[in-house]
Amino acid sequence: MPARYLNRVGEYCAEMLERLGLRTAADVLFFFPRDYEDLTEMRSVEELEEGVLQTVCGTVEEVELRGIGPGRSVLGVLVRDREGGYIRAVWFNMPYMKDKLSHGRRVAISGKPKFKGLVWEVSHPIVVTLAEEEAEPTGEIRPVYSLTEGIKQWEMRRIVAETVASHGPLLDEVFPPEHLQRHDLWPIGQALAEIHRPSNWETQKKARRRFVYQELFILQLALAVRRARQNKFSDAPMLEVSAKVDARIRRLFPFELTVGQRESIEQIANDMAKDSPMNRLLQGDVGSGKTVVAVYAMLAAVANGHQAVMMAPTEVLARQHGKTLRRLLENSHVRMAELTGGLSAARRSEMLKAIGDGRIDVVVGTQAIIQDDVNFSKLGLVVIDEQHKFGVRQRATLRRAGSDPHYLVMTATPIPRTVTMTLFGDLDVSTLRDSPPGRQEVKTYLAGEERRQRWWDFFAKKLREGRQGYVVTPLVDEVGVTSVNEAYETLVNGPLESFRVGLIHGRMRTDEKDAIMDEFSSGKLQVLVCTSVVEVGVDVSNATLMTIESAQRFGLSQLHQFRGRISRGRYPGFCTAFADASNELAQKRLEAFASTTDGFELAELDFQLRGPGELFGTRQHGLPPLYIADLLRDTRELEEAREDAAALIESDPALSNPQHARLRRMVLKRYGRVLDLGDVG
Ligand code: ADP
Ligand code: MG
Repeated sequence: MPARYLNRVGEYCAEMLERLGLRTAADVLFFFPRDYEDLTEMRSVEELEEGVLQTVCGTVEEVELRGIGPGRSVLGVLVRDREGGYIRAVWFNMPYMKDKLSHGRRVAISGKPKFKGLVWEVSHPIVVTLAEEEAEPTGEIRPVYSLTEGIKQWEMRRIVAETVASHGPLLDEVFPPEHLQRHDLWPIGQALAEIHRPSNWETQKKARRRFVYQELFILQLALAVRRARQNKFSDAPMLEVSAKVDARIRRLFPFELTVGQRESIEQIANDMAKDSPMNRLLQGDVGSGKTVVAVYAMLAAVANGHQAVMMAPTEVLARQHGKTLRRLLENSHVRMAELTGGLSAARRSEMLKAIGDGRIDVVVGTQAIIQDDVNFSKLGLVVIDEQHKFGVRQRATLRRAGSDPHYLVMTATPIPRTVTMTLFGDLDVSTLRDSPPGRQEVKTYLAGEERRQRWWDFFAKKLREGRQGYVVTPLVDEVGVTSVNEAYETLVNGPLESFRVGLIHGRMRTDEKDAIMDEFSSGKLQVLVCTSVVEVGVDVSNATLMTIESAQRFGLSQLHQFRGRISRGRYPGFCTAFADASNELAQKRLEAFASTTDGFELAELDFQLRGPGELFGTRQHGLPPLYIADLLRDTRELEEAREDAAALIESDPALSNPQHARLRRMVLKRYGRVLDLGDVG
């Protein structure tokens, strides 16, 4: 029913509601409070107790704002309650509060008061101003809704309350009764009433839990349906790894595989042996050995007479993968093609033809080139090196004949578990937690200017011992931020003047960059001053030193990626981050960075500092935002919902059981289009 026909909602109000996206009664019902006001302990001044959260209603009698130094002030507001008792509210350095609290205004102030000899005082209380027509609150928890201009909080409360009363009871339950019981979830009507008007904090929690679970359950169902569909409608080649093939592949690696690599390989081999395509995410820190796992999978495809392709996001990285593969495949009969930008037209078309004819087994290149140009004859496996991009994806579309290939996506950014379960919910996940043996620790220091001289002395000493190093700076010129050119000038005319120093940044031409990179990897250059271009694709094992300038400007995962560049060889690494962390969040980020080198731990910390919204902005993944669930808080509900959704889809893959009709409608309505679920069943 359109919102306009709701009780006491006129044309005008309906327009305001529309601006909030509330078009129907159901929209209003599910417009959950963004916050609550705790007015449960209503007291008169006479009844106040020291140190307990309480609320007093009254009228503002006196407002006094005093300056007590430059930029410092005290605001004192005297409030008189109905029985004539006084309480003083005090704010330090918040002069603007004055505007809310003019003389004669009716307010409810909540806080923990103290008795100051003559009068009760409460500092920095929460203030609710009461509209003239509004009754005094009576011991309640009040919802706070998001608003738009033209509609007031009390009006919104009234509209929602009336809609809940009139339409709440008409709502159908989503879950079968035994499902509710098993998961200790409240029925929808009860939960709805309590989430808008909680009787107490316990009931608010239970009501919220019900809707959090529901939201996550619908999402997980959608993801499960998508997986089930992919399996049903595609047929992939069954690529089996016999013991003989396994031995032949392993012989190519000059080292023992780590436990994590062995486990991942086993999972991948299991997937590829099935006739439904693998959709697997392989995550692990920089240097954890992902490429080796991917190479194993590619060779397994080749051993089964199929082609494999590895796609990188950039040229530099594509070339590096090419180099790695060439080295590993030296002693095999595998025929490989590298499709990079520098090829002549003739050579390129020759390669494309060979790939189309099946004379090439393994192809490496950038995603762009491969997706645009290449026709495969018998593609069995696609490896995508994603680096920093996240999320439920549209599958890369490749030109190929025959069946669907298996997919393996690699990411070097460890992803918090709750996020892999949602944004990556359509992928299976393999994780490399351990790094190959002999990997050296990197010591990380946070430093201010006073440490600069000592650090450069140390840096120079290590260079003389034969090591190499990076100096990472932000690119832009801004007041107070060392730009890369400036840093370079300062260093070559100062602390590093007796060393061979190169400069590289993202605004240089590709061939210039490549030339500099080559000089650095061959050791001709000892120091590389660079911007974040160094983040990807650089692997120089003799480089053990890193200076990060203006470190407050980089994100946590970026800092971690930088540092990954100096833990690649047999010498210990040293990283110093110079930072001007006047901002608390930046300071916390830097402290986290210095506190651990474990990428998974850092990912969790980053997640907590920034919150899921920012870190994995769902919009960029095409998933609609979550309305009530919070991936940081609601991990238990997420796990539960995921398990339950999987079990349900197992028993009813297309949700065609009439008992599940409502769930099915909800899944389609919310996720049908973005997840391309088509007409399920
Ligand atoms: P990633 O792709 O995760 O960054 P790589 O696969 O490129 O990591 O491996 C990083 C380095 O470690 C490479 O030089 C690789 O040869 C080496 N390496 C990989 N696996 C092992 C292993 N099991 N034992 C020893 N060295 C390994
Ligand atoms: Mg790699």
